[in-house]
Amino acid sequence: MTADVIKNIDLVEYQISEAAKVSGRLRADITLIAVSKGQTLDRINSVLSSGQLFFGENRVQEAQKHWLSRRKDYQMELHLIGPLQTNKVTAAVELFDVIQTVDRPKLVVELVKAFDKLGFERDCFVQINTGEEAQKNGIFPEQADSFIAYCRSNGIPVSGLMCIPPASETSAPHFALLRTIAERNGVLKLSMGMSADFETAITLGATHIRVGTGVFGPRQVL
Ligand SMILES: *Cc1c(COP(=O)(O)O)cnc(C)c1O
Repeated sequence: MTADVIKNIDLVEYQISEAAKVSGRLRADITLIAVSKGQTLDRINSVLSSGQLFFGENRVQEAQKHWLSRRKDYQMELHLIGPLQTNKVTAAVELFDVIQTVDRPKLVVELVKAFDKLGFERDCFVQINTGEEAQKNGIFPEQADSFIAYCRSNGIPVSGLMCIPPASETSAPHFALLRTIAERNGVLKLSMGMSADFETAITLGATHIRVGTGVFGPRQVL
């Protein structure tokens, strides 16, 4: 198990370095987030012991199961990459270092309340629904500028944008659109690219790539 995971990480690392090289970027400017949703504690331990320190989870409850007891033992950083219900905001702010899925005014209000109550803040990314898919979370591109302004005026500093392109389309135009929105709003971080398309994302400026199966192998627990 550990041997598999190390082989996977070595390959992903090689691919990141190559994609960085061809696009004239530094490996150090790209953060590999290992997405541990649906993985066993065994595999998570293997990835942790390989030295990986950035992890992503989709759901607050599963993330608590995976990380509450062990995260204090590591200098790790945990990213929320799935939709956040308003009744879970406090728990999410307590557990996650970065909330990548800020996607509606109500959530902004609840985040501000949680920051006040807990006495600390978390890095926030805005999720953009670049494909304008009805079933997907995220702000539509034409509302992005005004929503980012809304976040900032309410005291949520938007440090990044994230997107999940439609499964049925090529990702590149979506990554390019996310970058355009970030540039015109002065947002520096771009969370884009998963196992299937992180190299493309890197060539288009991704600072954070979210790789699940590419690091851990197939998801086991769902
Ligand atoms: C599950 C998930 C990933 C990782 O997907 P893989 O295809 O396993 O790399 C990345 N981002 C989000 C938002 C996810 O839900």
